[in-house]
Amino acid sequence: MRPLIRAVIDSHALHHNLSVIRARARGARVIAVVKANAYGHGLANTALALGEADALAVARIEEALALRAAGIGARIVLLEGVFSSAELDEAVYEKLDLVVHDASQLELLERSPEAARLPLWLKIDTGMNRLGFAVQEFGSVLARIHTLNPAPEELRLMTHLSCANEREDEVTRAQLRRFREVTHGLGYEVSIANSAAIFGDVPTGCDWVRPGLTLYGASPFADCSAESLGLKPVMTLMSSVITVRRVARGESVGYGGNWVAERDSLIAIVAAGYGDGVHRSLAAGARVLVNGARVPLAGRVSMDMLAVDVSGLDGVRVGTPVVLWGEGLPVEETAQHAGTIAYELLCSVSPRVPLELR
Ligand SMILES: *Cc1c(COP(=O)(O)O)cnc(C)c1O
Repeated sequence: MRPLIRAVIDSHALHHNLSVIRARARGARVIAVVKANAYGHGLANTALALGEADALAVARIEEALALRAAGIGARIVLLEGVFSSAELDEAVYEKLDLVVHDASQLELLERSPEAARLPLWLKIDTGMNRLGFAVQEFGSVLARIHTLNPAPEELRLMTHLSCANEREDEVTRAQLRRFREVTHGLGYEVSIANSAAIFGDVPTGCDWVRPGLTLYGASPFADCSAESLGLKPVMTLMSSVITVRRVARGESVGYGGNWVAERDSLIAIVAAGYGDGVHRSLAAGARVLVNGARVPLAGRVSMDMLAVDVSGLDGVRVGTPVVLWGEGLPVEETAQHAGTIAYELLCSVSPRVPLELR
């Protein structure tokens, strides 16, 4: 019994993308970012397939614990750090790497004698204004960290870029300048680059890079396809046709009747809807692949189904395969039609959709 809709996960593409990233990262170690269920690709299976990465990163402690429970012993960086002494105890027990970005986290560490054993990543806010210590307070924060007596090789410095997906960006230059001003000459390993910085050749000079999106084979740039970066899509969201009908000119299709046939049309109904993570905001003009051919949506996406105009296509019947995005249809393109970004589409694949590993 084959499920109607499924997300096929291509582990060869994952390996391929990791090696492309390694080549671009010029000797930097690679922290594979697997937060948010590995951008919808399945947390544990993705982490296992990325065994050659130098470390993994997640946003929340629950994600790290799930990885440990799956038997994954790799270095795991907790990007948002911990928020209670119970979480800190868990982190010590599970040997997690902690990002420290807020004074409350410094205080937690100061109250825990075991804390200094953990590898720490001190985060500096260089202009994103989301997480991290201000450059002005960095010196005093570093002094407090030093009194915890951490192993020097287990203290690292990081920041995050807000505009790396814009080429030659002034904000990025300013962020790098601020980071260098406060960290220069201290001798710590540093981590700055996300996917866009790695592939945009931003001169971060970092020891550890943190790719997410590009691991999964999507491009962070509006003007540059993943294929041209040498990346391959890892997820292909596939479903099939569940019925086909003729719709006479002037008749409408779907809720609201906002799509009206301009000619006698052949309409295929596909088992894929917003209940699966195919956004309702997908506009007219969006395409899916039916039997490998690009065809336009007809009418609104509903919870379990969508309709496509397959007029002129031969051989479409119940069971004909449909690709919503992935192999042959970049998710970036679908995202653009939905008024969003590839990140959001990938993450929003719902738990109803089984992952099929290849
Ligand atoms: C999510 C995240 C990344 C990965 O970003 P991509 O754009 O997906 O490569 C890197 N660093 C931090 C701090 C993140 O939160």
